[in-house]
Amino acid sequence: MASYLATATMGQFDLRRYRTPDGLRMYDAVDPDLYKEHVDPQDPTSPTYGQVADGSLARQGEILDFLARQFGPYPFSTGGGIVDDADDLFFALENQTRAIYPKSFFTDPVSGDSVVVHENAHQWYGDSVSLAEWKHIWLNEGFATYAEWLWSEREGLGTTQEVFDFFYGDIPAGDPFWDVVIGDPGVQLLFDNAVYVRGAMTLQVLRNEVGDRDFFRILRAWAARRAGGNGTTAQFVALAERVSGEQLDGLFHTWLFTAGKPALDAVAATNATAAGAPDRTPPAAANLLDRISKGALRLHR
Ligand SMILES: [Zn+2]
Repeated sequence: MASYLATATMGQFDLRRYRTPDGLRMYDAVDPDLYKEHVDPQDPTSPTYGQVADGSLARQGEILDFLARQFGPYPFSTGGGIVDDADDLFFALENQTRAIYPKSFFTDPVSGDSVVVHENAHQWYGDSVSLAEWKHIWLNEGFATYAEWLWSEREGLGTTQEVFDFFYGDIPAGDPFWDVVIGDPGVQLLFDNAVYVRGAMTLQVLRNEVGDRDFFRILRAWAARRAGGNGTTAQFVALAERVSGEQLDGLFHTWLFTAGKPALDAVAATNATAAGAPDRTPPAAANLLDRISKGALRLHR
């Protein structure tokens, strides 16, 4: 187990122990103060952070079941989450089997569900399969972000392609977003929003190249073969090539190791450009932009 994923949390919590419909033992801990704080402090009829968090945590069985269908069996024997009322906590962290969440994500169900999907996806990619070195961070964050896009599609809030198209169309070529070399972003940009968003975009490009069947075989093989161990980008590329039988080093070189906005073919580029209009923002994309604006992801733009 990677040492940064161990957690001990102290304080007063509402603790729930239960089993998911699949029988997985779950432990959720929510700070009771969060049931007194309204999401909109001016509106006492607005839900409390605790209520929104409860709603998202209650979907964990459904979320884990959904993720297991894409990624393979859940890698651990317990699960759950901790929601703390700490005003200076701005990020969530995928502690092994017990992710911690700040209240700021639980302003509405779309945001709350997305972060619970993200941290639970890390149980496969980040926790069970850890990083050999931090420079391979996109293997964690790109994958967990892509899981949010898969969930968005499942919830009818925009397909993975629509979310891809939005970001591709919305972020102009001159934007510093495209300068981040996410395959080796450096210490300062390790958790830059480009690592998350361009990382997930890379997976969508891979999926379009190899097709759904091989794409999900690659994801499942990565989780299964490296369970309890670690991996590198080069190993992932080799696996993708082995499973698909395709030469993919050009694709990964462009998307992971080349600064600048990658070119798409003409039809894909036209679709993406049309999708970049602000009035067409898919909720999963709006939610990511909101997290970037709140500082949950480092703002590079
Ligand atoms: Zn993450």
